[in-house]
Amino acid sequence: MPAYDVQCSTCGKASEIWGSYEDMVRSQCSDCGGAVVQKLTGFARTRGQWGGDTGYYDRALGTYVENYRHRDKIMKERGLCPADDSMIQDHRETVLAENVQHEKEAQTFSEEYKKTGSFADATAKTFSHSDKWSN
Ligand SMILES: [Zn+2]
Repeated sequence: MPAYDVQCSTCGKASEIWGSYEDMVRSQCSDCGGAVVQKLTGFARTRGQWGGDTGYYDRALGTYVENYRHRDKIMKERGLCPADDSMIQDHRETVLAENVQHEKEAQTFSEEYKKTGSFADATAKTFSHSDKWSN
């Protein structure tokens, strides 16, 4: 089950939603009941730096950074977390596996649709062996 980092669109409170994408979209802020929006998080690498005594240009962040504390602050503000190579690799594998799954579903769907000519039947057939949409 995936977790989504969300933020309240009314009061700005950050929280985490465990569940499906739909659960996340439907959830409300526990403090004020406002609608939540997904916070976009990303990976930032700690490589690709150069500079002198007064700071350095951080290629991953695309900005000048004074020191590591300053860098942490910028990353927090942007909702980024430091990632090592294994995290990036894991992330790539997750994305890849999802793409393979989506491709399979799309193929099953188009085959079933061609066979039956029914959108509903094809949908049912495509997702009958998958718990992807129900949890
Ligand atoms: Zn709120």
